Amino acid sequence: MSYQIILHGGANDLTEEKGIRQEACERIADEAEKMLKENASTLDVCEKTVCLLENNPLFNAGTGSYLQIDGKPRMDACLMTSKLQLGAVIQITDVQNPISVARKLLELDFHSTLSGEGASRFAAEYGFLPKSVITENQNANFLSAQKKLKGDISYKNLIQSFHLSGADKLGTVGCVVRDTNGLIVAGTSTGGLKVCFPGRVGDSPLVGAGNYANSFCGVSCTGIGEKIMRLSLARLVSFFIENKETVQNACQKAITQLGEIQGDGGVIAISHFGEIGFSFNTKTMSSAHREG
Ligand code: ASP
Repeated sequence: MSYQIILHGGANDLTEEKGIRQEACERIADEAEKMLKENASTLDVCEKTVCLLENNPLFNAGTGSYLQIDGKPRMDACLMTSKLQLGAVIQITDVQNPISVARKLLELDFHSTLSGEGASRFAAEYGFLPKSVITENQNANFLSAQKKLKGDISYKNLIQSFHLSGADKLGTVGCVVRDTNGLIVAGTSTGGLKVCFPGRVGDSPLVGAGNYANSFCGVSCTGIGEKIMRLSLARLVSFFIENKETVQNACQKAITQLGEIQGDGGVIAISHFGEIGFSFNTKTMSSAHREG
């Protein structure tokens, strides 16, 4: 039986950055394939691949995450397997790799999702060292948002000053891996939207919204979380696959529905049979896949 890997570095309209993001995705896909060929487990390959994406400041996840309007990056991540194992963290701060904290939760198999202070406390207990993920670029983004908000970080001022839509701001990362035994793992990690209220949660850590895996497929999404979660987009892709659509059709149909509610975004997926699919309605979505 064959293996497949697909990963993405977010869907957006930042065409001028398309080349370097694509290059980074290709390099990371090579590393993911190497790990799989060296017999690393599907879970390891998915987690480590998302870590490589999180560690690259080009992407809005881990190092390079957006700062919320109070100046703090709060990150979300989710990891799920085709055996329905699940781990997720919501609004975690000061760890280098939120996806690894999600992995730890998945393995311990007690709670599946932790948020905020509890997620940080869990991370500290299991030896994840505190690490700032703030980059100069994202600090500059934050300062320019502050300027526009004139220091007033009320919700009222936020919604008067910024639009939710606008695909210039997306950059979540994700990966789906299927091994030669047909085991699938999907992982997604994000720093959220470019400008958002403290504590805002997107689709990425919500099971079935931004990330999902079951015996039919694995799916990772990117885009405006507020719209993606209304459709349970990752589960919608899986629903189409379960109903005998090809993976590519399933991805396209889900993105069409996202567009119908004015949502910008993209999805990647692999089916139990090893079919790969992806679709997006933004100008670009950096992604790379490997199979063998
Ligand atoms: N989906 C992410 C969120 O809403 C953002 C993104 O994909 O770039 O938090």
